[in-house]
Amino acid sequence: MENSQSIVFVQFFSLIALSCAIAWTLLATLLRIAPKASWCFAAANTFTVIGILLYTQRTEAINYLYWFVADMTILLGFALVRWGCQYLFKQALSYRFDLILLTTAALLMLLVPPSVIYAVYLVIVMSMTAAIFISLSGIDNFRAVKKHLPLYYAALLNVPFFTIGLLFIIRAIVLLFSPQQLAHISAADKLNSPLVLWSYIILLLLTNLVLFGNTLARLVFKVARLANKDQLTGLWNRHALLDKLKQVDALWLRNDLAYSLMVLDLDHFKRINDTYGHLAGDKVLKHTAETLQNTLRKIDFICRYGGEEFLIILPLTNKKEAQIVAEKIQQKIKESVIVWQKKHISTTLSIGYATCKTHLSIEQLLQLADDAMYLAKSRGRNTICSLDSIEQANEIISTTRQ
Ligand code: GH3
Ligand code: MG
Ligand code: MG
Repeated sequence: MENSQSIVFVQFFSLIALSCAIAWTLLATLLRIAPKASWCFAAANTFTVIGILLYTQRTEAINYLYWFVADMTILLGFALVRWGCQYLFKQALSYRFDLILLTTAALLMLLVPPSVIYAVYLVIVMSMTAAIFISLSGIDNFRAVKKHLPLYYAALLNVPFFTIGLLFIIRAIVLLFSPQQLAHISAADKLNSPLVLWSYIILLLLTNLVLFGNTLARLVFKVARLANKDQLTGLWNRHALLDKLKQVDALWLRNDLAYSLMVLDLDHFKRINDTYGHLAGDKVLKHTAETLQNTLRKIDFICRYGGEEFLIILPLTNKKEAQIVAEKIQQKIKESVIVWQKKHISTTLSIGYATCKTHLSIEQLLQLADDAMYLAKSRGRNTICSLDSIEQANEIISTTRQ
């Protein structure tokens, strides 16, 4: 490498890639943010630097280390980017396919002696393999991100991946038809094409930026999920409740789509804690949550409302249907037995529900469902009650107090 511009390039490229590798290592170790993915990205940056440094040692002579190993190191970097993204978004890992792709590329490269004479062929094989890896990473990411974000944003976030993939394909096609372009569009023989050198730096920066963006997006989804979910049962928590209530209430007001609210409280739960311990109590709570999830529809919204109290929003459910749902839950809870240290624990629920009505606010409906649950308690527990109006609730409460 004689050219001073090439030396500056290699120094600059190594500086950026190694800084990124250090940043990813810090994310993986100190901050513990997506550690597996961060390790993959740190390794990908390091491998790329090693590959580029090996490139700089190329001469006219045949050399497996500076040609074959260098190309394979960089391709492994691309594969690591893909695996990192899959770890990041908890997707199925594509090791098998990727290792077959890497092996195929390696075998194709080994068909010729690694030297400048076969540079065009070697660059085509390398470019096509890199294009496949980077485009597949883009597709994986797009699929994952579009679950949480609008389609256009998911596409926008992955534009750099597809652009890089496209550039590699274009390079392979140009070389196929016009091999004399090698010096201008590749760094295979000498690192002296400014276009290639700068595009490598931009691609490196862009890839890391997209990866940082994706990691940040993943972190935001996770935090948002944690803020709305109950840790013990995995059900929605009170924080998430109000938004959902507003949604179903708006649908009721606009489209006349009735909904019901149900409050469920485990009977004599304190006794379970006192007899078997708090861990047993926790198991009962988890079991009840699972039973509710398995019994109800996907559109129903199940929330842990308090300690041993649950609240369910039943969209598209009128009073008659809510009664059927309550009976079904009661039956399922009755049938299920929880085993704790070889002892059987059985539970029952007191259920109260109320169905939406004109002139009833969300808060009033919640209060009605809650009052109905207390009515079920006062009627001996393991019972289902409903209330239609605040007047009825007041009347019943005053008679039960007498
Ligand atoms: P009732 O039939 O009237 O509802 O009686 P209860 O014993 O179920 O109700 P009470 O309100 O007297 O007691 C509720 C208990 O729930 C008290 C509290 O320690 C327990 N609890 C609340 N949250 C948790 C939790 O996360 N885990 C466990 N194990 N217990 C909890
Ligand atoms: Mg209770
Ligand atoms: Mg309670």
